[in-house]
Amino acid sequence: MTDKQTQKPEKFKFKAEVSQLLDILTHSLYTHRDVFIRELISNSSDALDKVRFKDVKGEAVADADQALEIHIELDKDNNTFTIRDTGIGMTHDELVKNIGTIARSGTTEFVKMLAEENQKDVNLIGRFGVGFYSVFMAGEEVEITTKSGDPDEPGWQWISDGKGAFQINPAENVKRGTTIKVSLREDAKEFSEEYSVKTAIEKYSSFVPFPVFMGKEQVNKIAAIWREPKSNVKEDQYKEFFKFIAHQGDDPVTWLHFSADVPLQFHSLLFVPKTNLELMGFGREDDGVHLFVKRVLVDAHAKDLLPPYLRFARGVIESDDLPLNISRETLQENPYVIKIRNTVIKRFLSHLQEVAEKKPEDYLEFWKQHGRIVKEGYNDYQHKDQVAELFLFNSSKCADEKELIGLSTYVERMHEKQEEILFFSGPSREAIESNPAIEIFKAKGIEVLYTTDPIDEFVLPGLMMFKEKMIKSADQADITKLEDVKSEDNADEKDEKAPDKKDVDKLARRIKDILGDRVETVKLSERLVDSPAVLVGSSNAMSGQMEKIMQMMNKDAAPPSAKIMEINQKHPIIANMLTIYQKDTKSPLLSKLVEGLYSSIQILDGTVEHPQVMAASIQALLSETLELTLKTKPVNKAPQKKAAPAKKAAPKKK
Ligand code: ADP
Repeated sequence: MTDKQTQKPEKFKFKAEVSQLLDILTHSLYTHRDVFIRELISNSSDALDKVRFKDVKGEAVADADQALEIHIELDKDNNTFTIRDTGIGMTHDELVKNIGTIARSGTTEFVKMLAEENQKDVNLIGRFGVGFYSVFMAGEEVEITTKSGDPDEPGWQWISDGKGAFQINPAENVKRGTTIKVSLREDAKEFSEEYSVKTAIEKYSSFVPFPVFMGKEQVNKIAAIWREPKSNVKEDQYKEFFKFIAHQGDDPVTWLHFSADVPLQFHSLLFVPKTNLELMGFGREDDGVHLFVKRVLVDAHAKDLLPPYLRFARGVIESDDLPLNISRETLQENPYVIKIRNTVIKRFLSHLQEVAEKKPEDYLEFWKQHGRIVKEGYNDYQHKDQVAELFLFNSSKCADEKELIGLSTYVERMHEKQEEILFFSGPSREAIESNPAIEIFKAKGIEVLYTTDPIDEFVLPGLMMFKEKMIKSADQADITKLEDVKSEDNADEKDEKAPDKKDVDKLARRIKDILGDRVETVKLSERLVDSPAVLVGSSNAMSGQMEKIMQMMNKDAAPPSAKIMEINQKHPIIANMLTIYQKDTKSPLLSKLVEGLYSSIQILDGTVEHPQVMAASIQALLSETLELTLKTKPVNKAPQKKAAPAKKAAPKKK
């Protein structure tokens, strides 16, 4: 007997969050109350895994002769449900900590989820790491008797009615393992009946890798389906197994099952879940696949077997070629693991590509959920090409923002004169479409990928190339290469009377004077069709969106580099400015007009830094224009067919 054991019963209070959770669980009637059976079995299975693991590593464990099993006993007369395992058990301190006094981060999250309407589904409790407490949905009193696998530890008993407190007593004559006796509530009698319990086990726990007995009968199948040849496994078995291993209610979107023999022997079964819990704000504790070595689960969340950009995958990898004592630390460096990992990545990526080709609808569903994570793979140098094949984007040739295309499709339909893959970023498809920087591509029928997710700013430039084509932001593309490409609407405005280039060049220099350092330079545009001016990035700078992101992430980042202002000499606004300039090179009105124009293109560019200054400059421009219009005749008339916006706003007929 130890000091602790000679003590009288000890009383503990549940941690506040745990009490709150228990309160909710005991006072509401949930539809899936039977999940408590799954949670208890799953805890037993984890505890048994730990014994098996110690055993294969040759570490001492108490009562080593006991078979690794789970037993369930029902007593209809006394209305009890009892589960007994020969697992690793708990020491005094583990018991106090694990069950009651430490609130795991999941506790509060789960309480929150239950509180939200339409979300009264306790099914997910296991995912939050608080599965044990589900026992209080069915039990009015719970008694745990446990003895740790540590040979020097005595046994303990834990009792609680789930109402705020629990009690711990010493327990005599206990063997390694844990027994949980649940005195069922009146309204939960069904769980003392064989039929209901068996049904629940079949539903949730068929794949538990240890035998579950009710009386003398083993009620689960224990099938390591990943070791079976594919032809032996039915679709439903895969689906069931996924639900079991991933704690999820939905069927998986797709799965990949294969075994390899040479040069390395291993089995792999990987699933893609329908929902991405990360998107719903869940943590990543659940990530990783089950790693088995010689039938022993050595890591239930092996995170290094797949790269982070495939972390949504769930499943099993088993190899008999790995050492049993492989630890998380040595996993990464193990040469076999590296080989397995590379084979699995390749096979998994090509499987996803096959889904994209053969089942585009399923693929779209996959992409919506996991695409954002997959995109992080752009920097996996070794598998870059394969990863990039999976990416989907919206583009100027898509009917709406819902349609998405892959990079291969883009390359296939590139214009023969086009050398680069073009993309353009903005907050939305609408914003991108109204940006003058891509007018020329629209006019010439050249496809531009629209990227609206901030991560794309890293992804596409990060890829640099795809199928030997450079990837470039459209505002930095070298459009001189596209000179020969005819405009699609044939409105080639080359013949249109544009002012003399030399004159416009002078105006450009004057505009640069007025704007100073705010622009890198002002030049005549080759890309503008309908708009008077645009801001574009200089071809050696980062793309504009990227700069915005860098600024958002780091306030001290270098200020965005000044952009190039391109002006459209064929546009009435520029032509009129030229007229004013030619009359008076220092015209104060010209300065205000330039400020106004600059403000408007800044808005389109999404780079407004000082809205107050901008509003003031626009208002100054308005007053001046009004004064001029009222006192004198208009300074000039629009020389061209295209109406300036002011004209369109003519008073409506009454
Ligand atoms: P989770 O299993 O997700 O960790 P639970 O609330 O179900 O969360 O269980 C809390 C902890 O209690 C477990 O992590 C484990 O340490 C311990 N535990 C529960 N059941 C058993 C058992 N049958 N044998 C040994 N330890 C157990």
